[in-house]
Amino acid sequence: MQYVRPLPAYLVKRYHGWKSTVFEANKAVFGELATQGQRPRIMVVSCCDSRLHVTSMFGADLGELFIHRNIANLIPHYEPDGLHHGTSAAVEYGVRTLKVEHLIVLGHSGCGGVEGCYNMCAGHAPELNEQTSFVGRWLDIMRPAYHALPAGDDASRKTALEKASILVSLQNLMTFPFIRVAVLDGSITLHGLWKNIGEGRLETYDPDRDLFVPL
Ligand SMILES: [Zn+2]
Repeated sequence: MQYVRPLPAYLVKRYHGWKSTVFEANKAVFGELATQGQRPRIMVVSCCDSRLHVTSMFGADLGELFIHRNIANLIPHYEPDGLHHGTSAAVEYGVRTLKVEHLIVLGHSGCGGVEGCYNMCAGHAPELNEQTSFVGRWLDIMRPAYHALPAGDDASRKTALEKASILVSLQNLMTFPFIRVAVLDGSITLHGLWKNIGEGRLETYDPDRDLFVPL
């Protein structure tokens, strides 16, 4: 596989820096985690966006968060069709095998995926409408949310879509039979969060008021 190349030097340097400092200082913890395996109580489905640092935001330690990231933090409908469903596989593993107690869907401001869906639905991104676009077909998951957006300027509608798509994902989670059962018997709790990256503000979905409120 000659097309696979060694890491760039700056990453190798950073790795060695981590190994000689963070790893050395926490050797016992790493050893314990390796022996005991993982027992996270929380699963997070977040966007791939590089500005979203889930572990840092919650001050989480190793082994605490089971994280799955995809474009625009979407969860599809339950589709047991034998095809490749990475997100559904992660959800199944987190809930059925790891038995996490909380499942958080985390969206954010300035989401490129949400913006892509917005533009695609508005007819401004024909490349995403192509049947062969993996991104476009993935973003189809939040199409219903686009069509339900209130009137307003583009910026506020995009923010509204970022939040609405979190709710679509939470609704889709409930189409998975094992999630529905776990929610109804109280063994798992679902949460919707939206992070304003520039302001550091985290908003949580309040089901009673049916809106996102700052924590
Ligand atoms: Zn995003």
